[in-house]
Amino acid sequence: MFDTIFMIIVPFILVARSQLDYVKPIRSSDHASKSKRQMITCCFSVLWPIFTRCAKPIRLCEANSSQLSMSAKNIQEFKLMDEWIQLFCKATSSKVNTDKCNHHEVKNNRVAKVSFAQSWMDQLIQDKPNDFVRLCRSQWEKLTQPYDVSREAVPKPAMEPDKRGRVPLKQVYLQRLTIANEKWNVYDPTPGQKILATDDRVFKLFLICNTNISIAMLSAAVGRSVLNRVANVNRLRSTSSNLVSGCLTSYNNNNNNDSSSNKCYYNVPKNNNSNNQYCRQFSNTSITRSSEPITKPSSTTRSRGKERERNELKKGDRLHGYVVLEVRDVPERQFRTYTLEHEKTGAKHLHIDCEDKNNIFSVTFRTTPMDSTGVAHILEHTTLCGSKKYPVRDPFFNMLKRSLNTYMNAWTAPDHTSYPFGTQDETDYYNLLGVYLDATFFPNLAEHDFRQEGHRLEFEKNDDPSTPLQYKGIVFNEMKGALSDPSSYFAEIQQQLLYPGTTYSHNSGGEPKDIPTLSYEQLKDFHQKHYHPSNSHFFTYGDLPLENHLKYIQENVLYQFDRTDVSSTAITNVKRWSEPKSIKTTCPPSTMETDRKYKFSLSVLHNNNSDIYESLVLNILSTLLLRGTSTPMYQSLLQSGLALDYTPGTGFEEGLFESAFSVGGVGIREQDVAKVQETILETMAKVEKEGFDEKNIESVLHQYEYSQKDVSASFGIKLAGVVHSLLVHNLDPVERLHLNQYVERFRQQVLIEKKPILQQKIREILDNPHRLNLTMVSDDSLQQKEKQDEIEKLAKINSKLSIEEKKKIVEQALDLQSRQNLAQDVSCLPRILISDIEKKQEKIPFIDQFVRDTPLRLLDLPTNGITYFRSIIDISTMPDNLKIYLPFYSNLMTSMGAGKFDDKQLDTEMNLYTGRFGSSPMISTSPFDLNVVGESLYIRSACLNKNIEKMFDLWNMILLDNHWENPDLIKILMGQIQSSIVENIPSSGLSYASLTSASNFTRATHLSEQWSGLSHVALVNQLVSSHDYQGLIEKLLAINQFITDRSLMRSCITTEKDTIPLATEKLSHFLGHFQSRNTMKTNTNQFDSIVAQNAIPKYFGIPSAVNYISKAYQGVAYTHQDSARLQVLSKVLGEYLHKEIREKGGAYGGGVSYDSGVIGFYSYRDPNLQRTIDAFGQSIQWSVSDKITTENIENAQLSIFSAFDAPESPSSKGLGEWSRGITHEMKQQRRDRLFNIDKQQLEQVAEKYLINQTNYTTILGKQDQEIKNEKNFNYKDI
Ligand SMILES: [Zn+2]
Repeated sequence: MFDTIFMIIVPFILVARSQLDYVKPIRSSDHASKSKRQMITCCFSVLWPIFTRCAKPIRLCEANSSQLSMSAKNIQEFKLMDEWIQLFCKATSSKVNTDKCNHHEVKNNRVAKVSFAQSWMDQLIQDKPNDFVRLCRSQWEKLTQPYDVSREAVPKPAMEPDKRGRVPLKQVYLQRLTIANEKWNVYDPTPGQKILATDDRVFKLFLICNTNISIAMLSAAVGRSVLNRVANVNRLRSTSSNLVSGCLTSYNNNNNNDSSSNKCYYNVPKNNNSNNQYCRQFSNTSITRSSEPITKPSSTTRSRGKERERNELKKGDRLHGYVVLEVRDVPERQFRTYTLEHEKTGAKHLHIDCEDKNNIFSVTFRTTPMDSTGVAHILEHTTLCGSKKYPVRDPFFNMLKRSLNTYMNAWTAPDHTSYPFGTQDETDYYNLLGVYLDATFFPNLAEHDFRQEGHRLEFEKNDDPSTPLQYKGIVFNEMKGALSDPSSYFAEIQQQLLYPGTTYSHNSGGEPKDIPTLSYEQLKDFHQKHYHPSNSHFFTYGDLPLENHLKYIQENVLYQFDRTDVSSTAITNVKRWSEPKSIKTTCPPSTMETDRKYKFSLSVLHNNNSDIYESLVLNILSTLLLRGTSTPMYQSLLQSGLALDYTPGTGFEEGLFESAFSVGGVGIREQDVAKVQETILETMAKVEKEGFDEKNIESVLHQYEYSQKDVSASFGIKLAGVVHSLLVHNLDPVERLHLNQYVERFRQQVLIEKKPILQQKIREILDNPHRLNLTMVSDDSLQQKEKQDEIEKLAKINSKLSIEEKKKIVEQALDLQSRQNLAQDVSCLPRILISDIEKKQEKIPFIDQFVRDTPLRLLDLPTNGITYFRSIIDISTMPDNLKIYLPFYSNLMTSMGAGKFDDKQLDTEMNLYTGRFGSSPMISTSPFDLNVVGESLYIRSACLNKNIEKMFDLWNMILLDNHWENPDLIKILMGQIQSSIVENIPSSGLSYASLTSASNFTRATHLSEQWSGLSHVALVNQLVSSHDYQGLIEKLLAINQFITDRSLMRSCITTEKDTIPLATEKLSHFLGHFQSRNTMKTNTNQFDSIVAQNAIPKYFGIPSAVNYISKAYQGVAYTHQDSARLQVLSKVLGEYLHKEIREKGGAYGGGVSYDSGVIGFYSYRDPNLQRTIDAFGQSIQWSVSDKITTENIENAQLSIFSAFDAPESPSSKGLGEWSRGITHEMKQQRRDRLFNIDKQQLEQVAEKYLINQTNYTTILGKQDQEIKNEKNFNYKDI
């Protein structure tokens, strides 16, 4: 069940293509997922990195960048030792010998100081032996060891600080001391302050003041390059002219409601010795606001993964304000789960302890808006615009550049809002946690941010009230884009109609016509009511210890809150109908010009999801009834040609408080609508009578077994998505991890006892009176009408505006613009340093050998009992006129039937024995030369080890005995392909624009466009309209004839050591069935790149309210030295454009990608056109005008490395090297180059590849009469 849910969850995440941040919505053929994607509005550019990150051991107490960047506060917190001691005296006045506590004496006498500290520590460790005290003592012990000061003077070089006051610390290293048997280097970053550090093995950071050593920060760390860390502190420091006082002020401001906060830091109540109470007291002090829990032991290395330390928490234990409600083991996944509640506020916490190093955090609030103003969604955006501790414009986007996250996002679902992130690095984890907690619980929610993110009135020319009035705002535009996709629109309306009277009857993302009615006060009220700990759930997952997470959350957030009544956010049950309802309405048109303009669906409202077994049964029923070509509904609804595809949301949906079951079709002819409804009901009645084939049931159960074992690198983050929707509905996520027992119960009842459970469920659905029959017809004029309404509404508003009001609109617009233009200091945000990144590329061991004269790569990895098989079949020498049909071949090859199986049986066999079965066309450019191109068919599958032979048998049948000659079936399948492609054009606008722009450069980019760009769309349309399916079959047979040649194949198997001999033997047997024709693999197809200076931009009109813009330039091959530079430059330009296109322009996103030798500028869901194209040009000019900063470069490097080193599942490890020929050495070289990038190099490559170079611009955008007539664009409607 979980995995079914996961299938639903994944696609609503915007994914980055490859390792580049080319963000576009995933395209999925799973329609259940589409509806979910629509329901959950993803709002934040995400890195979903594909490449793995080297696992490096992380030290517990690594002085992390968060600490360093928080140094301002820490220094203030600890101030100088003198004050520290003063506070100690206060805290312990009744216990410490008053003589020793004489502040003045201590202050001026080092010996007294040391001895005071010693005695204080001794006493405290007896009285309050907690971690913090122990840590203090160990620090002091080090300091008070014999102080053998031997100094080696090192001349201070004449080094001027740069413009920002930074001095390269390496150069100002003053002298070397020996303290406590450790060598220390003394650095002199700013006048009056010195920094002490050891060499690069261990380092401790201190502030030296008047030659007396004072503790600035209780931190110790291991680091490879201390100098850089120190340099970073220095940089951060130099941003404030008066460090200590500056931070003190800001701290006091933050706590102005707590007058005692900067006084009684250590005033531990004497009558309470519990850790908990102590912590809470600490929470009132600045010390615990340090971004790392400071009670960590200072110099231990934390073991990670399998070797991690396990805690001994048990039910009823109390720590850090929490009580443990339950501890459970999940043997299926080797998890231990902890369910906790925060006693004071009632905040819930679920922790999953496991060996996964990709640690996940998320916090979720139940958000249940009762209108469609998009308040929850706008709040989610505005929350990310700066908070108390991090008052910068866009802390999340900035953190994307400052961390090694594997995932960062925020999303608004119909009934909750989640803020999740993932990272493998412990330091990074707490950096991000600090930012996430502060953003959600203490956001600034400034009015100008509300106007930027939500909505505002602005004149077309923002300083000219005589120009037309317009609505602007990021969410406003985002929802316009989202709802112009007919699938999203359908799913939204279906949900609203099926759940009347509840929060689900409103659009939580916001209706563009309702968004402008939301007021700033309503937004703030909504935050206060919903973003409260009592209304929250925390989820943590991974190998880092729970205690530190709890402590951090308690000390940074929870102690400041009391419990509040949140019953008003509860979700109510839908009042049931006594009889079915039929509703007919209109939706935006799709790009397909056919007579199939209708959509119809039948949905019923089911129970709430508390019965896990029932949910499993309904999921299995849904799969058996609908998924795959062998299922009854597929046969009667789609195979029959009545509909082209299922409606979004078809199947069992349990993401909401009460689940629903829905089935329907899109692409229906007007005369068939009634018949579709009849067919659905008849098919279900027939299944109720006849039941399902046992083999089909077995195949579904096999899929559950398989998916339990198929390890995914992103398991934790997917789990977060599921956990939250369950927790929001007060359901138990842990019980759902025990999936096997439910599957076994099902097997027992249905397959052994033969109970008609599935049939009973069908009867329940058929008898359910709360049924919605929804018909939608696409209306070409709908968008025009909405646009006209908006224009009239705005004209009306405009006519009523007084001169003062107009003036105010202009002022506000200019104010916002100037804020957006204001350079901001983001140094308050923590960051990972470039020096913290592993220098060595992870090496994946492999064995290369030959099997029947074909190359085989063996990867021996822990695959959990699964064998993964991949093969690349070289098609370079295939004639071009055949090649363009390869996508159809790969799409259809598993749907036709093969060997002794017809199409339905083959589908069942694949599900019964394998997973991930499929193929795709593949293009790879040579790492040495962009013009050397590998063209191939990539086939892949996986299976439990016991099914290896079955898996290869299936491949044999599919490749050598496929039932291609079935024009009727091909016709149906091609109709479905066409429908799914065409329906998705608006949501894939950027992908099409980018492929078109790049297509002229090389053979690879040209072929990519042919295979998946607009040329492919045209070919699909042409094939379907010509009905020449026999002609297509001949092409497919010719392709089949070409590829079944062993000499074209090379394979890769990933499995565990013990299974390698079996897998190799079966592969050899499989290959034995193929001829070897020793085909030459040299590509003889020539490609002449089309050189056209200043080509006119191509504009393709699509039914969309927003634009997708792409502009492409040519780069170089992977191993060329400029390649790494161009990759960094692209990121740097992307940072510039993010500001111009998203923040100022109001688009959903924009940036630059660098992939396969193409530099691609892009924007998506963009209300602008020329403004964005101009911004592309400005960014290039900017990059060669001495404007790039070191910070720009470091941000780019971090972002590239976090994608480079992202976690990888065993199934994908080592694949890139094998398939693309990029060796470990090349990757290491790339890595080295990425580390050594400077501004001059970036300016050089910008000059060389972007200034006055050939480029192509493509727009997929609004169908606009004015643009049609403009000569600047080559306009064409799709
Ligand atoms: Zn959004």
